[in-house]
Amino acid sequence: MKKNPYNKADKVIEYLNKRYLKLFDSVTSFDELNVISVSHEIYESAYELVKQESARLVKSVYGDYREMENGGEEFDPTAFVAALLIAYNPVTKYVFQNEVERKRSRFAEGVIASETPREEISLAERLLLGITSQFVDDATFESIIQAFKDDGVTHVRWVTEEDDRRCKECKSRHGKIYPIDKIPSKPHIHCRCYVERVRK
Ligand SMILES: [Zn+2]
Repeated sequence: MKKNPYNKADKVIEYLNKRYLKLFDSVTSFDELNVISVSHEIYESAYELVKQESARLVKSVYGDYREMENGGEEFDPTAFVAALLIAYNPVTKYVFQNEVERKRSRFAEGVIASETPREEISLAERLLLGITSQFVDDATFESIIQAFKDDGVTHVRWVTEEDDRRCKECKSRHGKIYPIDKIPSKPHIHCRCYVERVRK
């Protein structure tokens, strides 16, 4: 049985969670000026981490799905991720880069106003991890499609995992075939469906 393509994304999230916890631990004083300045440091560092780790991830996933030696342009994982970070995502309804800035701003407001700033901090960490997790899943999905395109694949089949992660919403798409340029957007966030190549 082929491994679930999102396993690598899960590893990245596990790692980023550790790094994020450390970053958020650096908030030691809750006065307004300090919180605002620290918030920029935290969210900028987190953003850089997402960029780096996602580039590594998409390189690896792309490599897993690419079969032909050549054809297509040289795949540039850094540029691929850079484009995704600033692209509007029709499923999440935001641009990841902008959403990180919105999360930063809410974090600062929340911590400054709160009677229990530690709770605000851990909530903010979870929220940032949530959008990051969505981002790395999307990056995984997109790099599979890119690998197929570069291999000259014309059609893909939608796959809904038959396990505890199965998306009920997606069950009806399972096994459906789409032209590679007309793959529909995922129907909901946290969707972990993927596509496989249709061989002629
Ligand atoms: Zn799904």
